[in-house]
Amino acid sequence: MDYSHVRDVDPAVADALEGEVDRQRETLAMIASENHVSEAVLEAQSSVLTNKYAEGYPGERYYGGCEFADEVEQLAIDRAKELWGAEHVNVQPHSGSQANMGVYLGMLDPGDTILSLDLTHGGHLSHGHPANFAGQVYDVEQYEVDPDTGTIDYEAVEEQAREVDPDIVISGYSAYTRDVDWERMGEIAEAVDAYHLADIAHITGLVAAGVHSSPVEHADFVTGSTHKTIRAGRGGIIMCREEYADDVDQAVIPGMQGGPLLHNIAGKAVGFEEALRPEFEEYARQTVDNATALGESLRENGLSLISGGTDNHLVLVDLRESHPDTTGKDVEEALEDVDIDADENTVPGETRSAFNPSGIRAGTPALTTRGFDEEAAREVGDLIHRTVDNVGDEDAKAEVADRVAKLCEAHPLYEDLPSR
Ligand SMILES: *Cc1c(COP(=O)(O)O)cnc(C)c1O
Repeated sequence: MDYSHVRDVDPAVADALEGEVDRQRETLAMIASENHVSEAVLEAQSSVLTNKYAEGYPGERYYGGCEFADEVEQLAIDRAKELWGAEHVNVQPHSGSQANMGVYLGMLDPGDTILSLDLTHGGHLSHGHPANFAGQVYDVEQYEVDPDTGTIDYEAVEEQAREVDPDIVISGYSAYTRDVDWERMGEIAEAVDAYHLADIAHITGLVAAGVHSSPVEHADFVTGSTHKTIRAGRGGIIMCREEYADDVDQAVIPGMQGGPLLHNIAGKAVGFEEALRPEFEEYARQTVDNATALGESLRENGLSLISGGTDNHLVLVDLRESHPDTTGKDVEEALEDVDIDADENTVPGETRSAFNPSGIRAGTPALTTRGFDEEAAREVGDLIHRTVDNVGDEDAKAEVADRVAKLCEAHPLYEDLPSR
C-alpha cells in the first residue's frame, strides 16, 4: 500500500500521512486505548465500501445494490457472535461512545437515572459526565473506587444503588486495572430492577481471547470499541440479549445514525477474523503478561501503582508518594520528549485536578502487537522510571530516547507503508 494517489492530488496530506507512519514506527504507543491494526484491516478500511449507502441492516436495507454490503456486515456480526458469545450484535455504531448512546437511546427516557463510575476514578465521559450528552439528558449518580485499594467496593455500590434507584447500572471502565465482578454488578442491577450495561471498550480483545472474565452472561448490554485491545479498526459495537435487539437496532438507525460506515465495518470483519485465530489468544495473553512485567519493573524502581498491580493491559502510576513535586502532566510531556506516548490520568482521591492530575496511565496492547515480550516490557518500565526521575534533565532524557529508538528498530512496524 502506498499513498501515491493522495500524493498526486494533495502532497500536504500525503506528507502528513507518511509522517504519521514514521511517528508510529518511532514511538512506543503506550496510550492504553491505542493499538496498531494489521495492513489487512487498513486495506479493508480504505475500500470502495466508503461509497455505499446501506441504511438498515443486512437483508433489510432502504437502498438497492447492497449485496456486498450485506455480505460484509453479516460476516462482522457472525464473527462477533463467535468471539464474544453474544445473542445479538450491532456493528454499526461509529465509535464506543455511540455504542453507549445507542443503548441509552433505545432503553432509557430523558431524565432516567444512570449509575456509573466517576470519570476521575476510571469511568468514561459517555457514562454521564456533564460535558457529554449523557450527562445532559439523563440524571447521573456516580460511584467511586475505594481510595485505599483502588478497586470497586461492591457493597458500597449496592448500597448506593438501593438509595438512588437507577434505571441502568454501568460497569466497565477506562482506567481500571483489576478484573471486574460482572456477576455481582449484574445482581446489583437486578436487585434494583435496573438494566446492566457492561462497557468493555478497553478489554474487548482480552475478553474475546478469554484472558479476562466476560460480562456477556451477566449483562443486558455489552458495548465496546473495536480499536483498542481488539485490532479491528476505529469503531464501536453493541451486544445485547435477543429481547432488546429491536430496541437497540432502532436506536442506532434511524435513532441516532444514518448510513453505516461500511468501510469500517469491513475493517471490523477482518479484524474479528484475525481475532478468531489461535495467534490472537497468544497476543492477548502476552499483552497481559507484558503489563504485569511493566508494573513489576515500575514498582521495583520505587513507583507506586494504583491497586498494586494489574490483571489486564494497563497500569496506573500514582506519583503522589514517590514524586510529590512531579505531576502527571510533567511526566506525560517528558515521556513525549523520549518518544513514549502515555497519558496523564487522575488517581482515586485525586488531590490535584483533572487537568494536571497525579497519575500516569500506560498500556501494552500496541507494544505487544509490535512483538514486545516481558523482557522488553521490563526495559520500558526502566525507561519510564528514568524519565519520571529526570523530567527536566535533557542529558538523561537523550539517553532514554536513544534506548527507545533501539527498541523501536528492533520491533519494526508497517514495513510495507511509505516513509516521509
Ligand atoms: C474508549 C472508551 C469508550 C469509547 O470511546 P470511543 O473513543 O468513542 O470509541 C467508551 N467507554 C469506555 C469505558 C472507554 O474506555
